[in-house]
Amino acid sequence: MKKILYRSTNRKARYVDFKEAVLKGQPADYGLFMPIEFPQVNQYELNSFKKKEYYEIAFSILSKFLSGEIPEEKLYEIVKKSYNFEVPIEKINENLYILYLDRGPTCSFKDFAGRFMAGVMEYFAKENDLNLIVLVATSGDTGGAIANAFYNKENIKVVILFPKDEITEIQRKQMTTLNRNVISVALNGKFDDCQNLVKRAFNDADLKNMNLTSANSINISRLLPQSVYYFYAYSRLDFKKLIFSVPSGNFGNLMGGVIAKKMGLPVEKFIVAVNENDEFPKFLKTGKYKPVIPSKKCNSNAMNVGHPSNLARLIDLYGGWIYDERDDSGRVIRYGVIKEQPDMEKLRKDFISFSITDEEVEKAIKEYYVKYKIILDPHGAVAVCAYEKSSMKEPVVSIETANPGKFPEIIKKILGFEPEIPESLRILISKDENYFILENDYGKFKEFLMELR
Ligand SMILES: *Cc1c(COP(=O)(O)O)cnc(C)c1O
Repeated sequence: MKKILYRSTNRKARYVDFKEAVLKGQPADYGLFMPIEFPQVNQYELNSFKKKEYYEIAFSILSKFLSGEIPEEKLYEIVKKSYNFEVPIEKINENLYILYLDRGPTCSFKDFAGRFMAGVMEYFAKENDLNLIVLVATSGDTGGAIANAFYNKENIKVVILFPKDEITEIQRKQMTTLNRNVISVALNGKFDDCQNLVKRAFNDADLKNMNLTSANSINISRLLPQSVYYFYAYSRLDFKKLIFSVPSGNFGNLMGGVIAKKMGLPVEKFIVAVNENDEFPKFLKTGKYKPVIPSKKCNSNAMNVGHPSNLARLIDLYGGWIYDERDDSGRVIRYGVIKEQPDMEKLRKDFISFSITDEEVEKAIKEYYVKYKIILDPHGAVAVCAYEKSSMKEPVVSIETANPGKFPEIIKKILGFEPEIPESLRILISKDENYFILENDYGKFKEFLMELR
């Protein structure tokens, strides 16, 4: 069967197949993998999704990308196991629908990608008799989702780096209470520092034989499954075209939607909702890109990203080229250099973007509770605020990416009471934690990794 190949956004690395793209994580030229073509879904197939379960839609979409890579029965088994939870869509008012992606085991939308990725990686590891080490940097929610998804997977160890003082207690416990093949590291630094250490490790010749692979949203196996819920939302609503409001940090969620659009899903527009890290709305307006470094700390902490890694993919798809300039040792000397300007007109047609302050988030959480009796989490609230700012007259699906129960302190401060905490989080509270603490120093991190063998 014909495989879909993957190229690099930095245009130097050779084409690879899906397996290689997944196991490598990132091309040698520091770009990001992109499919060289997008399989299409026609209207007839779109209509057929109306009668299908979530995991069946996932199978239909993902098998288009994975033919010749993973046997269909195996893929079916992976998606069926991965998507065994509800995906509700709620009508809030005439114009607004909320798509809840917070019902997976770790109560964040990262479960959608993490569970699929873990299934795929376990398949490749076993099939090729490899022992993999999955390295991941987290700004909060990725770590828990990845830890949970990879827990007890065969032939795989997971190392998770998180910024010691920038995540909540529940977020930390989702990573540190599992043990076995899940190893957590608290870094004395910020999320961007975690990400930099991980990126350097991947490109370190001394670690080449350790089979390091990445579970960050740069990995293509995390991106593809995030296109599925856009198809799902369309199948459950009776509209010819949709607008999505997407709470965005590293732009992986957004790219999932963009992939769906490229495959033929009728998406009118994406509202790119960001917190006070406002590099993207500014770029869209002015055509000039300036990352926010260091990133700003906002209450939607999983979106505290001042230089989204998936921006390189987005700009690439719109005919441009952005990259991080590096010295010979691979250290970044300038972030987010635009080498070729994308088609700004086309970008502005397909996207609008708003930066939302913490104050606006708090106001929206209060308002939506009073008006509609729903409790938004700070991330979903950013999307709802952006929807309101957009003044769209057509139906909008706003994506809720986390359960408010993950942020009891913030919700209590705003509403005066604690939200209900889902069972899967509640059981964590009494569990013992195990984690390492490291300084923000690449040499020490490298030593730590070498001792894992
Ligand atoms: C990761 C995350 C986001 C941001 O998603 P990106 O794909 O990084 O843009 C938003 N909300 C929550 C709850 C998250 O965990």
